[in-house]
Amino acid sequence: MEIRAKEGSSLRYYSQFYNLPHILLQHSNPGQMASIFKKDDYVRIPGYTDAIDGSNFDPIRIEEPIINPKIRYDFSALKKDIEILLKAYPFMEKRIIGKSVLKKPIIELRIGHGPKKIHWNGSFHGNEWITTCAIMKFLNEYLAALTTGRTLNKVNPLQIYESTTLSIVPMVNPDGVDLVLNGPPPEQFELLHELNSKSGDFTGWKANIRGVDLNKQFPAKWKEQKQKGVSAPSPRDYGGREPLCEPESSSMARLAEDSRFDLLLAFHTQGKEFYWGYEGMEPPESELIAEAFAKASGYQSVKDIDSFAGFKDWYIKKFRKPGFTIELGKGINPLPLSQFEEIYRDVFGIFLTSLIVL
Ligand SMILES: [Zn+2]
Repeated sequence: MEIRAKEGSSLRYYSQFYNLPHILLQHSNPGQMASIFKKDDYVRIPGYTDAIDGSNFDPIRIEEPIINPKIRYDFSALKKDIEILLKAYPFMEKRIIGKSVLKKPIIELRIGHGPKKIHWNGSFHGNEWITTCAIMKFLNEYLAALTTGRTLNKVNPLQIYESTTLSIVPMVNPDGVDLVLNGPPPEQFELLHELNSKSGDFTGWKANIRGVDLNKQFPAKWKEQKQKGVSAPSPRDYGGREPLCEPESSSMARLAEDSRFDLLLAFHTQGKEFYWGYEGMEPPESELIAEAFAKASGYQSVKDIDSFAGFKDWYIKKFRKPGFTIELGKGINPLPLSQFEEIYRDVFGIFLTSLIVL
C-alpha cells in the first residue's frame, strides 16, 4: 500500500512501525534511501493493504496468497497477476526485455539485489504453460514470506533476498501460450491452420506464432539439431532459418548476455526429470546442484540427452555456468491442471534449492 508519510519520519520509522525488514522498505521506495520525509510525500509499505472501514483507516498485513495461478494461465491472466504482486510488493521490479512476434511484452521480474544471480524461465513452449503457473505460485509465496517473516521450509527468506538477485521470465512465449489456450487470432487463422496440418486443435503447439521452436533456436549445435528436426515452420521442432532469428529467443539471449547469471533454470514439461550437461562443457558444480535438485524433488537427474540448440545448451557453452532444463510432471502436454498440486509439491524443492545452493 501507499500512504501519506509523516513529516520528519524516515524509512527506519516505518520499518519498526510495520515490523518489516528495512531493506524491503528501501527497495520499495528507491528514491528515499536515507532521507527524511517531507510534507505531502508518500511512502510504499510492502506486504500491507489499506482496508478502509467507514472512516477508519486500518492497514492490514497481507498473510494469504493474493494470486491464484492454478487456472488456464494465458498472457492476460499473467499480466494481471504481475500487477497485483507489484502493487503489494513494490520491492519487486518489472522490466520488458523484448516483444513477441505479436508485440506482447516479454516480462522479466527481479527480486533482490544480492550478488548471486539466479534465473528462472517458463513457457518457452506454448503447450507447457503450466510451468508459468508453478513459477508464479512460488513467487507469491516467496514475496509473502519476506514481508510476514515466515520461513520457506525452514529457510529464512530474508537471507535469500540479501544474497541473491532472482530474475524471472515467467512466459517466454506468450503468443504460443495464447494460441494453445485461446486459439488463433482471426488475422492469423488461415496460416496457422495450414501449419497445424489443417487441424483446429492447437493444444499440441510448442512453437512461437511463426512455427519456430524457440528452444531449438540457440547457437549450440544448431545445424546438427536442424538436420534432425523439421525443415519448415511447424507446431514443434523447427529450429528457424538461422539461430536467434525470432524475437523471443533473441530477447532471452540478450538478457543472459547482459546479466551473466550464475545459475539458470528453464522450466518445461513433461517427464519428472532434468538435464544439466552439454558436451562436457558444464562446470563441475553442475553435478552437485543436480544431486541437490534430485533429492529435493524426487525427479530423475539426467546428464545428457540427444537434443541441442536449447537455451540451457547455449548458456552452458557460452558461459560455462550451471544450466538446467527441468521437465515438470508426467503425461501428455499440455498437462492438466489436476496435476498442479503434485507438480508444485515436487518443484517447490527445486525452486528453493536453486536459491540457496550456490
Ligand atoms: Zn519444452
